[in-house]
Amino acid sequence: MSLYSSIKRLLVGILFLISSVYAQQIRMNIKVDATDTPKHLLHTVESIETIGGPVTLYFPKWIPGYHDPTGPVVDMAGLFIKADGKTIHWRRDPVVMNAIHCDVPEKTKTLDVNFDFILPPEIPGPANAAASTAKLLILEWNHVLLYPEEIKPDSITVSTEITLPDGWKYFTALRQNKKLGNNIFFKPVSLTQLIDSPLLTGEYTRQINITPPSGVPHFLDLVSDDPATLAMNENKITDYKNLVTEANALFGTHHYNHYDFLCTLSDNIYHDGLEHHQSSDDRMPERTFVDNTIFLDNASLLAHEFTHSWNGKFRRPIGLATGNYSSPMKGNLLWVYEGLTQYLGKVLAARSGLYTQEQYRNNLANVAAFMDHRPSLSWRPLQDAADEAQLLYYTRDDYDSWRGSVDFYSLGDLIWLDVDATIRQLTNNKKSLDDFCKIFYGGENNGPEVNPYEFEDVVNTLDKVVKYDWNDFFVKKLNSLSHHAPLAGIEKSGWELVYKDEPNEMQKVNEEVSQSINLFYSIGFIVDFDGKVEDVLKGSPADKGGISPGINIVAVNGRKFSREIIHEELKSAKDNPTPIEFIIANGDFYSIIKVKYYGGEKYPYLERDNSMPDLLTSIISPLTYKIR
Ligand SMILES: [Zn+2]
Repeated sequence: MSLYSSIKRLLVGILFLISSVYAQQIRMNIKVDATDTPKHLLHTVESIETIGGPVTLYFPKWIPGYHDPTGPVVDMAGLFIKADGKTIHWRRDPVVMNAIHCDVPEKTKTLDVNFDFILPPEIPGPANAAASTAKLLILEWNHVLLYPEEIKPDSITVSTEITLPDGWKYFTALRQNKKLGNNIFFKPVSLTQLIDSPLLTGEYTRQINITPPSGVPHFLDLVSDDPATLAMNENKITDYKNLVTEANALFGTHHYNHYDFLCTLSDNIYHDGLEHHQSSDDRMPERTFVDNTIFLDNASLLAHEFTHSWNGKFRRPIGLATGNYSSPMKGNLLWVYEGLTQYLGKVLAARSGLYTQEQYRNNLANVAAFMDHRPSLSWRPLQDAADEAQLLYYTRDDYDSWRGSVDFYSLGDLIWLDVDATIRQLTNNKKSLDDFCKIFYGGENNGPEVNPYEFEDVVNTLDKVVKYDWNDFFVKKLNSLSHHAPLAGIEKSGWELVYKDEPNEMQKVNEEVSQSINLFYSIGFIVDFDGKVEDVLKGSPADKGGISPGINIVAVNGRKFSREIIHEELKSAKDNPTPIEFIIANGDFYSIIKVKYYGGEKYPYLERDNSMPDLLTSIISPLTYKIR
């Protein structure tokens, strides 16, 4: 044996030792008692395999999809830990609040962990995503478990059991092993897959089968506070079936074994969506599927979250693919993760029939106008919005247009349209972003898996579709400052942004649902139906006249403020040389101010530019069926 081969053996031995510690496999068992959901408490009992010695148990903090460190450890109460049946001492890390250090005697075989998770009784902010009412619960497993921090979540196999309140049904991407009364036992999965598979349960439920001809199971799972709101009509069901076939036609493949849209319908929860590999957690107003105005406001939500199964879950920016729940994430590529999803989600909603083509264009006009009145773009480049994402999801409304926010969604919507239109222009509409999607998100379906990427991978894949200086294209979009939105995609696709004096349909929907009036394009503020000013556009007539966010408008031209009055007074201000007079309350102080605005009402629309081919209509036309 040569010296070389014995050194090699030694190195291989050391590497094996290191990798076997790192790749340590353990089992955990979690029993959740959800019968006290109406009392806003979940009880959890865990047993965790161990070999003894000091252990740090960790309450998940960085949850994929949230893009921020908001795992609500503060809602954990009544924590008791036992080692082989004996209560042991634990101490929270003085710096990392989610880490619980435990003195575990050597040779201990099992740690038993008990605690309750407090469900917020009122509508929580997005920072605390737990959601329940007396009639339903959307359970995120990361709220009801601690895990040994030093072990990779992929290497932890978890058996899960849940006890449901009497008469409640459940939906989840997890597969059931057995059911004994109200106790449901699930097939073991990795901790990663468990946290990626929330469970929706409630008293009033409906499951709608939207499985396409391929036979891969897809379901709409509805759970509502009110059984009457489960009555989704056949047209909508058809549109959601179209969504499944259109998404699969766009990407050419998928990376799940089955898919559940978990739809929570309640006015007593925070409304949002969270993506997963084989399901999406879609929280909407109670009447979403029975009231067309509310539906239109949410028409692209399921399409957005579904798109994430490819863009965000399967392909994930390397900075967001940490492989655990404790390492900080980097949001630098969120303009791809969220921006492209925002674009594709709405395109798919239009291709599926969830939006009419006109509704899609109205929505795009609203996004374009909103971003074109965004002074934050003059100091905060798109890259910075992505970099600061972990703080920007929870900013207040006041001076939102000046501070800026998670603008990679709306800017992404506009920029990826530009990418799509550019590819179509360069190839005579023979190639498109669809071709990028087939390459970038393609490959064999092995069920849920993560394939991380970096900026260069995006550029190189686009280059395979059509040669262009994509690097320069994105670098400029990411780093440049401007007083205007990137509208080139709208122009290249044969349309232009114009303003008219009547709100478009989607603007009316937004006004109705948000209970606020967007007057950014005329006098320059957003005000709610009670007269509270949410935001004021810097440099606008309102700003110059002295209106600021947070004040209350008491009266307009001598009449008590109302939604109707503000619309009427703006209309009659057109070409009227008298300034508009406001009585305002700024905290406890009242004053009269005059705003010099003479332009009437203004709302955005897209208008066809006949000198250019209509690429936008090609983009939003279905791939697989004829429009009804
Ligand atoms: Zn998203």
